[in-house]
Amino acid sequence: MKELLFFSNNQKKIIEINQLFKSSKIIVHNLNLFKAIKEPRETGKTFFDNAKIKSKYGLEKFGLPCFADDSGFCVDALNGRPGVISKRFFSNFSSKGKAFDYIISNAIKNKNYKAFFVTVICLSIKKGHHIFFVGKINGKISTEQKGNNGFGYDPIFIPDKSDKTFAEMSLKNKNKISHRMIAISKLKSFLL
Ligand code: IMP
Repeated sequence: MKELLFFSNNQKKIIEINQLFKSSKIIVHNLNLFKAIKEPRETGKTFFDNAKIKSKYGLEKFGLPCFADDSGFCVDALNGRPGVISKRFFSNFSSKGKAFDYIISNAIKNKNYKAFFVTVICLSIKKGHHIFFVGKINGKISTEQKGNNGFGYDPIFIPDKSDKTFAEMSLKNKNKISHRMIAISKLKSFLL
């Protein structure tokens, strides 16, 4: 497999992927090549379903082996929510801060601070051939939101073996240990 497609419109992820495959023999195309392609709706119940919906769509539409990712934040005290609805979850609150307060107060109430980030990548090689790569990082909910870097739930997540939230770390240091990087590294090892 010398050429494949990364099915994403997210420019930050595209840069990350290009960086990672820069000095390899594999050419990774992305959706910037194909003007105004809409991503299919992520209607799956799991990260696996949603990653596969996208990679399968890319394979069928462009005839190239294709991979796509789906990530989220899972909180023990909320029975694994927001999980697959991590992106949409914020729209239930008037601000991000209010969503963080809700998560923190549930962790305190349940005396359970455990949480993790997960990324699932699906690589669709040909019809009926889909391979999954999973990256996960365990940690705990911070009792207050801290840090200005990163995005999403970074200000309230402290990874294991750290005393800083993801948002207090530089992007470089976060990426050394992140769920996304773990999944991408597994994909890269498989491909090479
Ligand atoms: P996506 O599938 O990578 O687009 O991630 C879905 C949602 O999960 C994002 O919109 C974020 O809210 C959350 N999320 C995923 N990865 C991270 C991360 O590294 N930090 C913080 N939030 C994340």
